[in-house]
Amino acid sequence: MLLGTLLDLEVRIWLYMAVAASVMGAVTVGVRRYRPAWSAPWWLMVAAVAASLLANAGWALALTPAGVPRFPSFGDLFYALMLVLLVLSNYWWVRPGQRRGGAVEAAIVALGGGAFSWTLVIEPLLFDDRFGGLRLASYLCYAAMDLVILVLIVRIAVVSRVRTPAYRLMVAAGGLLIITNTVNFAGLLSGTDLDRVTALGWLGTYLLIGGAALHPSMALSTGTVTRNPAPASRRRLLLYVTLILAISALTVTSLATDLGGHSPRTIVLELLGCAMSVLLIARMSQLAALLNGRSRLDGLTGLGNRSRLQDALDGGGGRDQALLLVDLDGFRDLNDSFGDQTGDAVLVEAARRLRAALPGRAVVVRISGDEFAVLTDTGDGLDGAAVAQDILDGLHHPYRLPGIPARRIAASIGVVPLAANAPRGQALRDADLALRSARSAGGQQVAVYDAAVHAERLANTQLVADLHRALEAGEFTVHYQPIVALATGDVVEAEALLRWTRPDGTVVPPGRFIPLAEQSGAIVAIGSWVLAQVCADLRDLHREHGLSVTVNVSAQQLRDARFAQRVLDLLGRHDVPGSALIVEITETVLVTSVVDAATVTEQLQILRDHGVRIAIDDFGTGYSSLAYLRQLPVDILKMDGSFTALQIEEGTVRDLAFIRAILELSRNLGLQTIAEAVETAAQADRLRELGCDLAQGYHFARPAPVAALHELMSERRGRTGTALPQLI
Ligand code: C2E
Ligand code: MG
Ligand code: MG
Repeated sequence: MLLGTLLDLEVRIWLYMAVAASVMGAVTVGVRRYRPAWSAPWWLMVAAVAASLLANAGWALALTPAGVPRFPSFGDLFYALMLVLLVLSNYWWVRPGQRRGGAVEAAIVALGGGAFSWTLVIEPLLFDDRFGGLRLASYLCYAAMDLVILVLIVRIAVVSRVRTPAYRLMVAAGGLLIITNTVNFAGLLSGTDLDRVTALGWLGTYLLIGGAALHPSMALSTGTVTRNPAPASRRRLLLYVTLILAISALTVTSLATDLGGHSPRTIVLELLGCAMSVLLIARMSQLAALLNGRSRLDGLTGLGNRSRLQDALDGGGGRDQALLLVDLDGFRDLNDSFGDQTGDAVLVEAARRLRAALPGRAVVVRISGDEFAVLTDTGDGLDGAAVAQDILDGLHHPYRLPGIPARRIAASIGVVPLAANAPRGQALRDADLALRSARSAGGQQVAVYDAAVHAERLANTQLVADLHRALEAGEFTVHYQPIVALATGDVVEAEALLRWTRPDGTVVPPGRFIPLAEQSGAIVAIGSWVLAQVCADLRDLHREHGLSVTVNVSAQQLRDARFAQRVLDLLGRHDVPGSALIVEITETVLVTSVVDAATVTEQLQILRDHGVRIAIDDFGTGYSSLAYLRQLPVDILKMDGSFTALQIEEGTVRDLAFIRAILELSRNLGLQTIAEAVETAAQADRLRELGCDLAQGYHFARPAPVAALHELMSERRGRTGTALPQLI
């Protein structure tokens, strides 16, 4: 290349043509090989390079004997064409329809560049007698085109998202071309021979274009615009400062040689400086507004954010509205399986659909992750639930995303109707509660906020917190309900039932707190306390009265592989034989995974091997009582109270048939049956006739503290003189 710069103009022109031809080849190869989705700017670049080739050819043919091209010639025509094509290529760099933004930035840089162009090229050209007529007009045109290219490059830098190597090379090529052209003018005007420098510059420009086209990142370099251009970077600020300083320096230099300060050169520079200041102020105020707005914008989806919603809620009184919280079901799974990019694409698409499903006035924001909120006016027969249903339908269309099969995504929506003058302070929290109801209803559901449901949920949360405290504070006790052998009336067993009395004396029924303890996992700690208490009580109950105790055990306790061993340890510690303990399990045990089921069975088996009996509680109420029977090692069936309490007394054939069937099944399997909730003598008699072994219920005795059980047993023994007391 260096060699090329030393050659005379004619040879240099041929060198440019050769290089231009190879750059055209390079760009064509690049576009063919890397297949950019947006190839228009690359083809325009090929055309521009072709025009430059023809320009050089034109000049080569129009060389005067002195070795310089005649003016005008075809070369100049093609040179102008090349500049136009370069402008178009730069303009088309970003796809049509996405070219907004960056105008003020581009104008600021244009003014800065203009100041240089004015000082170095335009003003000297205008006032140089050597140039006039067509030549002057063409040169001014060239200089203007250079400025346009500069403006377009700046605009690309502002709005384009990509910063690929190919992009950087192209921007460098543009910059180098403009600088070289300016240097060329400067040489022309001052009569200095700068040909070597310009030759290097133009050859460099060609090589940068060729390099860019052959870099694989060229495919991703064009067409894409940023969703949210960075409002201002440190670098851009530095650029502005440099430009202002440069204009000032140019003005000062111009003033130094211009004593009156009235020459066009100074005046134009001063005007350019002024215009630039005005634009900078405009840009700064734009930025301030943007930043202010951005603090209320969600960066990914372009929707509002939580602050935006809060503003809308604060200012929303006076109209009937509805607040909707929308949550995509299973979004996290999607993100985990296909990556964040896919997740983001889904969020952007969901945001678009939300917006499309709602009137323009509605406030739509992304609250967090995959959670959106909508605040919309209601009335005219349109309520929040209807809006929510529309949204739900809209969101459920299949999502077609690159790289993964089309899929549907369900959503859950919580709705809070907001009357015109109702306070909005709790709206978001209420919507969240409604959303939780929608989610727990299985997804793809709309739930409308219900104050009663909310109150209950709040109370539940409080109760769960209290459970842990109650255990530590010793607010739990165990009561015992006798179990009677129907044939003899002897009390042979007792069921341990947990009781919770708060410090203020209020009793919380087990039906209220046990399910919550199960849900929250507190049942494990509470259950092991019950077992310890029961084993301690059993020592005397068994030794003195020969009683066994049956204790309710939760599925969660049985899932622990150390459960059986702990029970055996407790029995050992209190010197109680395994045969004195019965473990009662309910159907929840079954609703466990296969792995859990294996553990549960194993634990029960270990206990059974040590004489502990296993009872199935509430038999006949669950859906899988029979499966249960086949799956688990069992000794006792506890027939649910619903069979005894109602159906025996009314004595319909149908009801009796069920009881008979259960008793028959139990007998055939060699199991004992305990009837629960026996409340009348008639029920007890009937059960005895039907062959039921054991029973418990208010008819015999209510659950009572262990002391009461001791008392009862001693009293009975004293009265009957037999070893085992009879209750009837
Ligand atoms: P369950 O195991 O079926 O207990 C029998 C329930 O029937 C007890 O209710 C008992 O008081 C009640 N009952 C007894 N006789 C009659 C009667 O004649 N008529 C009527 N209507 N009911 C009668 P309680 O004590 O309220 O316990 C309710 C449930 O709480 C128990 O049902 C059991 O599933 C659970 N539970 C109680 N204590 C514990 C415990 O320590 N651990 C676990 N996991 N659950 C327990
Ligand atoms: Mg029970
Ligand atoms: Mg029961």
